[in-house]
Amino acid sequence: MDVRIMGSDQRSVRCARVSFGKDDKVDPERDKKLLRFLFRHRHASPFEHNIIAFEIDREGWLRILSRLNNPTVQIYYSGGYAWINLRNVVNSMEHLPEEVLSQIERSFPATWAIVRSGGEIEDDELSQLPYTTDRVFLEMKAETESGWVGLVDSLELGTDMDYYTFIVECPLFVARQWMRHRFGSYNEISRRYTSYDIKFYIPNYLRKQASKNKQASVDEPVEDPYQTEFLEEIKESVERSLSLYSRMIEREVAKELARGVLPQFMKTRFYWTVPRIALDNFLTLRTHEGAQKEIRELAEAIRDMVGYRGTDRKNRL
Ligand SMILES: Cc1cc2nc3c(=O)[nH]c(=O)nc-3n(C[C@H](O)[C@H](O)[C@H](O)COP(=O)(O)OP(=O)(O)OC[C@H]3O[C@@H](n4cnc5c(N)ncnc54)[C@H](O)[C@@H]3O)c2cc1C
Repeated sequence: MDVRIMGSDQRSVRCARVSFGKDDKVDPERDKKLLRFLFRHRHASPFEHNIIAFEIDREGWLRILSRLNNPTVQIYYSGGYAWINLRNVVNSMEHLPEEVLSQIERSFPATWAIVRSGGEIEDDELSQLPYTTDRVFLEMKAETESGWVGLVDSLELGTDMDYYTFIVECPLFVARQWMRHRFGSYNEISRRYTSYDIKFYIPNYLRKQASKNKQASVDEPVEDPYQTEFLEEIKESVERSLSLYSRMIEREVAKELARGVLPQFMKTRFYWTVPRIALDNFLTLRTHEGAQKEIRELAEAIRDMVGYRGTDRKNRL
């Protein structure tokens, strides 16, 4: 049976550590303890960024589905492969083929031992476990005026469910638009946890509101003196907010409250793991001229990295 895997023990750790903005650090001993913590406390979403595809016929896939007694488990079928993420594997492992499980054990040795022990593995046994890491931090990266996007990994078998993991850094208002794309998995930096590395997007110039489309802009600068004055005021207002925030943090105000004064121009960072059909839907909607310029530029960068296949055209609605 052909079994393909995207991810590693470290992939879940990276997607968990992005909460603290520390997703680039590798320390196998601490990482394995973090995996155990995530499992014990059911912090499950980081595991969703690991994808498993196994070759099976449609009847075999339907047989697996018919045995599931957990309505949250999603196993998709495309191009002769069943597609499942590691979180769903953990919730359905008694119904999956042995060959799939043994490949998962090889690809995620630390995670799998923790899962098999029910999270009850002791420190000395944990430290003996092998630990798999990602080959690279990013395969590709592209900068735009408001942020950047990087390709972490992909699993391409020429199907509608080929998977991609990206890191995106963008202003909060762009992330709000992005996360309306629900078919996929997200893990984001948390301003409840960290006051580290706060950055802001300040546009090169302020463009005008479109007159025909109430939610759009036109790529035409607002006239001076307003252009210069407003940009100056934006910078001052951002600096004032950051200064108030920093003073509150120094005086032990909880980060989860202090963050309320940080403006929408603040940048956030998140991991996004998405299947091709939803990615193409994102590209159709967000490279369209009606999409906001900041998200459009990031969507165009993604299209340049991994192409657009038009799989979303299969959906009527
Ligand atoms: C120009 C523009 C303006 C927008 N303005 C607004 C706005 O004012 N307010 C606002 O709230 N949103 C707005 N949106 C967001 C928009 O409504 C969608 O939420 C977003 O584009 C994600 O699209 P999607 O649901 O197709 O993608 P995904 O959520 O990624 O879904 C991918 C595909 O999976 C299927 N799917 C996923 N979930 C379901 C489900 N629950 N039921 C059935 N099928 C499902 C659909 O086929 C869908 O196309 C705007 C988007 C754009 C591009």
